[in-house]
Amino acid sequence: MKHIIAYSGGHSSALVAIEVCRKFGKENVILLNHDINPKVEPADVKRFKQEVADYIGVPITYANHPDWEAETPISLCVKAGTWVNPANRTILCTNRLKTAPFYDWLAENYNDGDVVYYGFDSNEPARITRRSSIMGSSGYKTDYPLALWTDRTIHNIEEIGIARPTAYSLFNHANCIGCLKAGWQHWYIIYCNYPDVYQQLIDGEEAIGYAVHGVDDWAEDKSEMFESMKRAGIEPTEKTPSSQFWARAKKALATQAAGQFDLFALPTAEKSVECTGDCKL
Ligand code: SF4
Repeated sequence: MKHIIAYSGGHSSALVAIEVCRKFGKENVILLNHDINPKVEPADVKRFKQEVADYIGVPITYANHPDWEAETPISLCVKAGTWVNPANRTILCTNRLKTAPFYDWLAENYNDGDVVYYGFDSNEPARITRRSSIMGSSGYKTDYPLALWTDRTIHNIEEIGIARPTAYSLFNHANCIGCLKAGWQHWYIIYCNYPDVYQQLIDGEEAIGYAVHGVDDWAEDKSEMFESMKRAGIEPTEKTPSSQFWARAKKALATQAAGQFDLFALPTAEKSVECTGDCKL
């Protein structure tokens, strides 16, 4: 029986990997990960997943897109001419970089009795139900140690002397830099801190012919407003709750750039998305 950890490079799945190894031993544990182009998966996330694997003493098993070292989420979408997977209208990069390699790997390696472990916690019952149902319909057993196990032994990775990825100081999740599922608060950070990635989004939207965030909600059109927000000192971070972040942005723009932007068109709040469930393992 194999214990297959959906090992994403994030904090939660690292805790799951440790809990499973402590409970069952490391012999039949598989840390299943998808390596992502270093242009969008920060070196510090790669450092983190390797340090946790070293601590456990299990090598990382990679199920990668064949061109992961060359392609990014945006470049894959541009090559396909679409932001979404035509089969189910979900964001395409999820499928290409993660979901498809994941299911290909399971098809070849999963045996009856194996269990796939996810890092969802007890606040995510809907995701657990959905994931159990999707996986169960294909014959795959799942478990959710952070939500369901009562004999937890670790809650923060720092307890074993490993620092969580620095990405968590800015972002709520260790997603790709420039996540195509994320809202404008995330993309304001990208505009401020990763302008080359922001420019790739602008170029990608022009090449594909429609905007990833919604009808006529173009990245290029946001640039000027983001520049004004930057001048006004709006901190680029996901650590400010979304409603507070956009309230501050609107107030700053109303005083410093009065009449220039349609403030009613700005979000009031955005859901913070994790590349999980449909996407991250
Ligand atoms: S983290 Fe975001 S950009 Fe990366 S694969 Fe998932 S949805 Fe796409």
